[in-house]
Amino acid sequence: MPVTAAALEQEADRLLRALLHVDCDPRGRTWNYEACRAIAPLTLEINRLKQEKNAVILAHSYVEPEIIYGVADFRGDSYFLSLKARESRAKVIVFAGVVFMAETAKILSPDAQVVVPDRGSGCSLADSLTGAQLRQLKALYPDATVVCYINSTADVKAESDVCVTSGNVHHIVAGLPAKRILFVPDRLMGQNVRDELKRRGVDKEIITSDGTCMVHDEFGPAEIAAARAQFPGLQVVAHPECTPEVAAAADFVGSTGAMMKFVKTGGAPYYLMLTECGLVGRLQVEAPEKNFIAGCRLCPYMKLNSLEKVRDALLAPRPEQIVTLDEPLRQRAAHCIERMFALSPVD
Ligand code: SF4
Repeated sequence: MPVTAAALEQEADRLLRALLHVDCDPRGRTWNYEACRAIAPLTLEINRLKQEKNAVILAHSYVEPEIIYGVADFRGDSYFLSLKARESRAKVIVFAGVVFMAETAKILSPDAQVVVPDRGSGCSLADSLTGAQLRQLKALYPDATVVCYINSTADVKAESDVCVTSGNVHHIVAGLPAKRILFVPDRLMGQNVRDELKRRGVDKEIITSDGTCMVHDEFGPAEIAAARAQFPGLQVVAHPECTPEVAAAADFVGSTGAMMKFVKTGGAPYYLMLTECGLVGRLQVEAPEKNFIAGCRLCPYMKLNSLEKVRDALLAPRPEQIVTLDEPLRQRAAHCIERMFALSPVD
């Protein structure tokens, strides 16, 4: 059925109200009425396809704002979206994020068809360690409890004892009976966890593999010092995938969900967000009264997602867009994630 001009105008108005305050757009776009009107046919088509196909769209906070506010049913960090995947009864889950996140959705919602807009949306962290490499590490430290960050492949999860996110890692690791922890695949987060637990009086030996996030690894203490000198009262908010030097120099370190809460409830005149720019875009929408100074970085993998690719994945997914997992491996990976849910603190 052809879309009427009135429906397109109404959709453009809806998009404009959502996107008006975003000025941290990676393509340098300004979200005015014309820009919203230009994407309105696509967002209407995607939202119609979702109903026809009994589909939900999960969008990570780092993807393009027009996906987050135009078509996503749920937006958030890995932990929140994995919960939504687990609860979902939809036939199709489109995961606008990166491949390891879509794998997690498939692990937790095996009966759904899980599709990714772009199969090339990898992750420097998840791709730094294979299941075979982890088996070799486990042979070196047979007495260690293996803790994997959720930013890991299904193979790595299947080889791990428990999964964690940046929001629950301290609680879960501190509560494990083992003193020796093999933490994979994020070396920097492992170091930050070790430092934070030490500060809390928890003595753990944390051995890490050597992966890093190519986005968060880039920030340095010098840019924090320069920003503080230029903007008195500035608060620096960092993700725990940053280096320990950056974490030590920041005012707050936490998961993307915790970072958002910190800013929304804070009263600083300026914020420097040491994370992916998508989160700044979300805050500009959801806390438009706050001021952000430039400093965020782009994740090239997250930015492979687009409305066109979301539409194509919904309409007729190509084989490479459909996530498939070997069932025994999926079950082992599910056990590792379910253990995380069981050990996570209750909000
Ligand atoms: S921001 Fe870092 S951890 Fe997240 S997907 Fe990109 S490379 Fe991976």
